[in-house]
Amino acid sequence: MNNTVTHRQPWNTSIDYPELPVSARRQEIAEALQRHQVIIVAGETGSGKTTQLPKICLELGLSDKGMIGHTQPRRLAARTVAARIAQELKTELGQAVGYQVRFHDQVSEQSHIKLMTDGILLAETQRDRLLRRYSVLIIDEAHERSLNIDFLLGYLKQLLPKRPDLKLIITSATIDLQRFSDHFSKAPIIEVSGRTYPVTLLYRPLHELEVEDDKAQDLQVGILQAVDELTLIDRQTREAGPGDILVFLPGERDIRETAETLRKAQLRDTEVIPLYARLSLAEQNRVFGEDRKAGRRIVLATNVAETSLTVPGIRYVIDPGLARISRYSYRSKVQRLPIEAVSQASANQRAGRCGRVAPGTCIRLYSEDDFLQRPAFTDAEIQRTNLAAVILNMLQLGLGDIARFPFVDPPDSRFINDGFKLLEELGAVTSKRQLTALGRDLARLPVDPRIARMLVAANHLGSLTEVLVIASALSVQDPRERPHDKRQAADEKHQAYLDDDSDFITLLNLWKAYELQRIELSSQQLKKWCQTHFISWVRMREWRDLHRQLHLSAKELGFVENKDDADYASIHKALLTGLLSHIGFKQEKGEYLGARNRRFYIFPGSGIFKKSPKWIMCAELLETSKLFAHYVAKIEPEWIEEPAAHLVKRSWMEPHWEQKRAQVVAIEQVTLYGLIIVPKRRVHYGSI
Ligand code: ADP
Ligand code: MG
Repeated sequence: MNNTVTHRQPWNTSIDYPELPVSARRQEIAEALQRHQVIIVAGETGSGKTTQLPKICLELGLSDKGMIGHTQPRRLAARTVAARIAQELKTELGQAVGYQVRFHDQVSEQSHIKLMTDGILLAETQRDRLLRRYSVLIIDEAHERSLNIDFLLGYLKQLLPKRPDLKLIITSATIDLQRFSDHFSKAPIIEVSGRTYPVTLLYRPLHELEVEDDKAQDLQVGILQAVDELTLIDRQTREAGPGDILVFLPGERDIRETAETLRKAQLRDTEVIPLYARLSLAEQNRVFGEDRKAGRRIVLATNVAETSLTVPGIRYVIDPGLARISRYSYRSKVQRLPIEAVSQASANQRAGRCGRVAPGTCIRLYSEDDFLQRPAFTDAEIQRTNLAAVILNMLQLGLGDIARFPFVDPPDSRFINDGFKLLEELGAVTSKRQLTALGRDLARLPVDPRIARMLVAANHLGSLTEVLVIASALSVQDPRERPHDKRQAADEKHQAYLDDDSDFITLLNLWKAYELQRIELSSQQLKKWCQTHFISWVRMREWRDLHRQLHLSAKELGFVENKDDADYASIHKALLTGLLSHIGFKQEKGEYLGARNRRFYIFPGSGIFKKSPKWIMCAELLETSKLFAHYVAKIEPEWIEEPAAHLVKRSWMEPHWEQKRAQVVAIEQVTLYGLIIVPKRRVHYGSI
């Protein structure tokens, strides 16, 4: 396919602009775009950056020679934005305005504007290094600074001199703009400001609870109370129909749980609408559609509603102030995905969502003191990620040497080294940092490189069926519930699945028990069963969803699932290939010496805590009060050497000539990351 030739008709229909701050400044923006290769457009959410900038490019004739490429951080936004622009241009979606996200391609020969996720554009750089098919690229929401955005900003910096005809527009909320300008040789910044109404802030902090499990519960109560308070405020201040509420939640799971809580509360004349990427299109459309099922809407959304989507008509915001943020701890070399307090910038964006059409009210479920102590901005993802996955991606995408790549914020060299170390451990790169064939396979599995490694091994060992179940379990939250006041009852129920050698087998047992019920029971009965067995139905469903996804990815790679049950050894040997630096040798009960002289403890909730075997491995090392191993299993030390052949160190003692065998014989010791895995072994060197 020749990317440089297009058969598209030039755009010659006149373009209408709705009254928005960006429309008002379109002359100035157009001029800047003609004079400069790169411009930065910043402004409040709702000022028209996303929907109007592509139209300005269209009107300038920039799509005559190539497409206007427009990236979004999220699939959901890519589609909705495309639909909105198509509607404003009075064309069918998929014609002049198309969109492409994973699994969906609605772009035609006639498309002038193409919406896509930043991941899609990044993948395109592999096939078309110069991105010839585009004459303009709009990188939207650059302030989010996801890995994909940072890759693109680095890639484009290298590309611009090679494509002097390419125009680049970076858009951002008004956050840290100078950084983008500096990155692109002092590109001009155009700030548009929108009309906003005052937002009243109310602080209603949740009670401090120590127990993680109860936090979720507490949050539900807090949200319910806030809804009640807003209902009252609404009644007192308005005569017309009630105002819509937007609630920000950390993730899909919390959204589902809150939806459940709100439905149970049977609020009068209220429609509860969850909003996340995996909903069907029809469900997503409910948010943006005009027809209402009830007088009032409560929209439950993640960060997506913070800056990238405009949910129309919001008068109230409830902000628990939380988001799921991935963090990497340098010291313990473990990745965490905790729910954290959002930055002040995020909190203010959230509040701003209800001041678009009229004065609004935002209830923050935390104190003002808490707010003031928060960091001003969230740091870029690359600053807080385990770089193994990043490096793997970069190698696979051919982005070159990570240490020399022009990142907006280059990652810490210690993190880069750690990343390479882990990849070397997994056999994904050579000691010279070259991607291996195995590494290429790992990059194609959409999970953490450690978990991807397990799947590859399981395929060889004939335990893929079991390891797929375990691997997906390790990527979701534990479905077992232990409510504060019913700990003992819950533990008794969970006892049925408990394996005292391996928490992974426990997961398998739980899966099997659930599957049996799922086939037998109606979905109502299944929910009931989950409840009485202290299992979260929602998390089980999430587990199954992920399992299905992984099953499909494995199939794409030609992996084969075993029909017969795999034995303990072949399951755990497969898991071990991904966990070589997560092995431990017993010191005292529950206390282990791990790789690189690190001490850790079996988490008391583990099924193998009592037995506390000599050698163990664990899926996670999490640092709380101590460094705890979660998902632990007994292993045989003999299993370690083979998968760790590229990592072990050997030393020899007492070499001597044995007359009887006519050989040199010595005592060999094998260590892995400083742990002695073979203390003494007689070896001999070729006979004479
Ligand atoms: P920005 O990118 O600056 O945040 P947008 O271009 O997304 O702004 O939105 C500008 C305005 O267009 C919004 O304030 C809203 O009034 C309107 N709008 C955008 N998308 C939609 C939509 N899907 N449905 C209804 N109105 C929308
Ligand atoms: Mg936008």
